[in-house]
This record gives sequence, structure tokens and C-alpha cells, in this order.
Amino acid sequence: MRIDVFTLFPEVVDHYADSSILGRARQGGLLDLRAHDIRSAATDSHRSVDDAPFGGGAGMVLAPEPVVGAVEAVESAGGMPRPLLLLTPSGRRFDQGVAAELAGSEGFSLLCGRYEGVDQRVADHLVDGALSIGDYVLAGGELAALVVVEAVARLLPGILGNEASAGDESFADGLLEYPQYTRPARFREWEVPEVLRSGDHGRVDRWRRAQSLAATLRHRPDLVRDRGGLSPEEVAMVAELGEVRLLRDHGYDC
Ligand code: SAH
Repeated sequence: MRIDVFTLFPEVVDHYADSSILGRARQGGLLDLRAHDIRSAATDSHRSVDDAPFGGGAGMVLAPEPVVGAVEAVESAGGMPRPLLLLTPSGRRFDQGVAAELAGSEGFSLLCGRYEGVDQRVADHLVDGALSIGDYVLAGGELAALVVVEAVARLLPGILGNEASAGDESFADGLLEYPQYTRPARFREWEVPEVLRSGDHGRVDRWRRAQSLAATLRHRPDLVRDRGGLSPEEVAMVAELGEVRLLRDHGYDC
């Protein structure tokens, strides 16, 4: 998959994307990530990319010329994948569903803002959409772009060591993940739950499902509401864990 990133800090994007899963994906040719420097398209002698806002106010605005120039330079050199998505707090909220959507595409491009943001004409005339990684304000789009790239890349076939690992984790089916443990079975006085060591796959599956449901009800009741609540069978499974209080707190009779 090809992903192009337009940024004032291409070295930041490259540096992060050269390690761990992204680094291996790049080396193995599964991920063709290209970071482009917006400043390379600046035309004045100071190579400036920002200017004061029309109408007044604090801070600077990323100007349209270098942004449009950088994108057009890549387009005329053979092109880049569309959609081109602007990272901005006012974009569509990025979540695991959007990540899966993008992972199923041929590729896409990301545009990172800086300063107080990007001249609105870029949003109106250059990009195809906008993404926000959450309701907070970063200093630039680079971390947001890397969040998107990493969440998408790890869904691509062949990128995670174990193909199954992306399928049963948090948000894959609208629930949070169950707790995971590894050796040793006893560390200090903390023991791994007996059921996980029982070798009984039926019991393990049921326990994990119940733990997922309980964790989601406890930490993200909004996700439980979105999937239409818990079925009577699911309520029974959570009750088996001893989480009767949790169930009652959320209005389930048991
Ligand atoms: N003044 C803007 C914020 C600018 S922050 C506003 O109030 O909306 C500077 C840049 O950081 C933005 O252009 C954007 O590219 C990036 N950024 C900040 N917060 C972000 C978020 N939650 N999601 C995606 N990008 C973000």
C-alpha cells in the first residue's frame, strides 16, 4: 500500500516509520510510505510557509501556495494516491472502522497542518476529506498522520506476525479486548487466572468473551449502547464472573 504524507517535518515521519512494525513493513515492500516536504515548494527567498491571519488574531496560518505547490509537484511527477486527507481537529473522527476502511483501499495521502492550521482554501479546493484523531489540539499533524498510518498498516495482510492478531482485539467487534497474560503463571503473588491455564478452549473462549463484555461495560458503556446492549446470554456470562454489581449499575437485572 502506498501512503504519501505532506508535512513540514518529513524527517519526523520517516524517523518514526523506520522502526518496529512500520519499519519492517517498509523494508519488506508492504508499505510504500513517502514523506514530502511542504517547504520544498516555498517560493520566496526565505522559504517561508506561514503568514499572519487575515482578520487578525494570534498565531500564523500555513499558506496555500507551498501546500498546493508540494501536492502539485508530486502529482506532476507521476501522482500520489487519493483521497488526500487533511489532519485537523474538525475532521471526521478517526477510529478502528475508518482504519479498516483505509486498509481496504489502494492507498491514500495525508496532509499535516502546523501553526494555527491551514488556509481554508486548501480544505475547500485541494483535499478530498479531513480526519481528526480526537478531541484535543496538537501542535502539528505529524503525530496524527503517524497514528493513522500505524493503525492502518497493522491491518494490512502480512504485516503483523500472526495474521489472527488484528481480528479479535479492541474495537474489532465493537468491544474492548479481554485481559492477556504470559509466563510466568505466578509473578510475585499475582497469579494468571486458572481458566487460562486449564487447556479447555471452550471455557477459555467463554471467559474471554465475558471479560470483553465486562471491560466494555465498565470502561466504555457507550460502545455497549451502540451495539444494542447485552443479550440475556451475555448478561449471564458476565454474572458468572461475579460482576453482578457492575451489571446492576448499568441497569441489568441478574
Ligand atoms: N487552530 C486549529 C488547531 C491547529 S493545530 C483549531 O483550532 O482547530 C495545528 C495542526 O495540528 C492542525 O492544522 C492539524 O494538522 C494538527 N492537529 C491538531 N490537532 C489535531 C487532531 N486532534 N487531529 C488531527 N490533526 C490535528
